[in-house]
Amino acid sequence: MAGDGWTLGIESTAHTLSFGLVDANGIPHPSVSDTVRPDKGGIHPREAADHHKEFAPELFRKLLSTNNLQPNDITSVAFSQGPGLGPCLRIGASIARGISKRLEAPLIGVNHCVAHIEIGRQQCGCADPVLLYVSGGNTQVIARLEGRYRVLGETLDIGIGNMLDKFARAQGFPFPGGPVVERLASEWLLDNPDPSMDGLELPYAVRGMDLAFSGILTASLKLVENGQPLGAVCWSLQEHVFSACVEVAERALSHTGKKELLLGGGVACNSRLRDMCDIMASERDSQSFAPPRMYCIDNGTMIARLGWLEQAEGRITLFEKSAIDQYLRTDQTPITWA
Ligand code: AMP
Ligand code: MG
Repeated sequence: MAGDGWTLGIESTAHTLSFGLVDANGIPHPSVSDTVRPDKGGIHPREAADHHKEFAPELFRKLLSTNNLQPNDITSVAFSQGPGLGPCLRIGASIARGISKRLEAPLIGVNHCVAHIEIGRQQCGCADPVLLYVSGGNTQVIARLEGRYRVLGETLDIGIGNMLDKFARAQGFPFPGGPVVERLASEWLLDNPDPSMDGLELPYAVRGMDLAFSGILTASLKLVENGQPLGAVCWSLQEHVFSACVEVAERALSHTGKKELLLGGGVACNSRLRDMCDIMASERDSQSFAPPRMYCIDNGTMIARLGWLEQAEGRITLFEKSAIDQYLRTDQTPITWA
């Protein structure tokens, strides 16, 4: 046990500001969050940071009232130290420092990517999985080896979620685009029961254990411009990029000899991706796990959970060491609890 009170988690790496909690036993409680949704264009780091600053007091009060807590019930304060967008990370870190100082509660800076993994392990009860971490900015296949989460493969250009968001935005759909692409693809599937006959040709970019998504984005946009039905393009786009991810994840299972696959990150909300992972895992006598959707997208609870794990190992963050690190890597954090 890390303490006798609650651990607060503050998530602010990109589009979402979120506050979450775990109790003294590390049990997660749902987050309260708000996501910036630009009227047009992508997410501007400065504008997202302004959004986070504006919404922080209201969200924090809502978290306390929803859980019937007083500020003093919080005995540790965890925050996303990186990776992410600098201006957004800085807001989360300064809110964390402020609350920590005010409550005289220890501060714990945590690795956002590792937080996605640990909330998934906690929720799904799996011990030593290969991870398919698919979010807005990140796409990585990860496995724990010698006390670190090692990145075995990853995107060489943009994250899979950002690619889906850009594709959807070009069709006039606001952020987040991934759920829109999923809906259009499944609606199209209803009218096209044998889609393999009508699948569109797109680039399939697996390079060894790595992936790439910018080529398929350009090619998909061209298909729409050339008059292909939007639903058909969405379906083919999903099939191609999810197959590529599942292929790399399968190779990782094979190389490491592990028997569990765990999905994480916002794109892990996608039902088609979840199904593909189930099929692959069952074909190789393994199991595939996906956390509840509220813990796939960025959330403060996963930050609280990792903060709780870190503190139980005696690791807290001194103020002078609490600067953010935009480029923090998944394998920079020692994993001593697993
Ligand atoms: P994260 O960065 O982990 O919070 O995840 C956000 C990303 O997840 C965005 O790029 C969303 O478009 C994407 N996303 C959310 N739900 C879905 C879904 N159902 N299918 C595909 N992508 C999704
Ligand atoms: Mg994330």
